[in-house]
Amino acid sequence: MTEQEHFPEANVAKRLTGMVDQWRDEILAFTGELIATPSETPPGDERKIAALILDRLERLGLRGGMAVSQAPERPSVIFRLRGSGDGPRLLYIAHTDTKPVGDARSQWDTDPFRPVVRDGRLYGLGAADMKAAVAAFVYAAASLRQIEPLKGELILALVSDEEGGGRYGAHFLCQEYGLTADMALIGEPPGIHREWEHLHIGCRGVFCFTIGVHGTQMHSSLSDRFPSVNASLKAAELMLRMSRELKFTFEPHPLCPGGTTLNLGVQLKGGVYFGVYPGYAEFSTDLRTVPGMRREQAIRDLEEFLAARQREDPNLKLELRFRPSPADWIAPSEINPDHVLVKALEWASEHVLGFRPPLSIYPAGTDAPKFQLIAGIPTVPAFGAGLISVAHGPNEWVGVESIIQACKIYVLAAHTILSRGAGEAQAL
Ligand SMILES: [Zn+2]
Repeated sequence: MTEQEHFPEANVAKRLTGMVDQWRDEILAFTGELIATPSETPPGDERKIAALILDRLERLGLRGGMAVSQAPERPSVIFRLRGSGDGPRLLYIAHTDTKPVGDARSQWDTDPFRPVVRDGRLYGLGAADMKAAVAAFVYAAASLRQIEPLKGELILALVSDEEGGGRYGAHFLCQEYGLTADMALIGEPPGIHREWEHLHIGCRGVFCFTIGVHGTQMHSSLSDRFPSVNASLKAAELMLRMSRELKFTFEPHPLCPGGTTLNLGVQLKGGVYFGVYPGYAEFSTDLRTVPGMRREQAIRDLEEFLAARQREDPNLKLELRFRPSPADWIAPSEINPDHVLVKALEWASEHVLGFRPPLSIYPAGTDAPKFQLIAGIPTVPAFGAGLISVAHGPNEWVGVESIIQACKIYVLAAHTILSRGAGEAQAL
């Protein structure tokens, strides 16, 4: 079977990418408008950005978009470009919120909410993560609508609250709203060192826990005269031991050569004040997990390590707490590399970029596990414009050309899948 048999005919592909080119200025301007519409989580309020997207869909003749939400201030936007047959349902997902500017405002060279283009890069908060993808998906739908009806259905889910854990966004859509599809793509920025570096077919998960250490609260002037345990020092010693010796069990994954990442002390608390010997200290930790890892095994590894430390040191009194569910364990997930959506994205990349980004596992978490594990939708967790390494900090940017390329890849991949009936698409 040759790829030409599956890919849109050359004239259709040309028409589709030509339409994206015609919309070039509009796509870039719309990305800028999205950047200029703050949607930071926390505090978490996507009403303005949802209204902006719905208005744009209407203006492009894409009718029937809706805001759906569990809480009034946390709407997600759903839009369906319905097909004329029994073809597959393809879901394109982008989150509309960003992390806050936070403590980095003074390090920005530009206003984070004013889009600025410099040297082929569009700067602004959320430029890469992931307002460029929102614009690219909207205009991919607009381009697809211009050609004859497809057999399958394209669904856009432009979701809230990804940066807050997804309870109001992806989790709500999968668990309560009942969003379904046959396959999904999240347009998260895939690059770490450069744009279009990888096509991520899986993402690592996150295991979040806190260890509290108990000591002896007393007058600190007498700490060497009476038996006493310094909780802060014990916690520090334990963290050091964990950083050197704690190993979690997992099967090596060929696309995830770095394995797990243990981030000790992402939050620290302890002690009371000068003059008070510390009676309690705690530190929180996030472990980035590899596809295939299971919660029960990770907990067992951790508990066994802590029990061994307590056997060595009878003065080590501790408690292990997990972050409230579901944020304690965000499962890793992956899609089969032979899945039709992966193939379609590879072909579309070849057509638009001239090469196929190698397959990989995304180091960060995304909403993919919710769509994959709750809603049962095979999901590509990250493929689109930009770099994850410039997100969540000052001077976030996305390549102007990459936004247009992303839109072209999305439209070509969607056409490849949706122009076929359900059975045909599976056979790709
Ligand atoms: Zn993101």
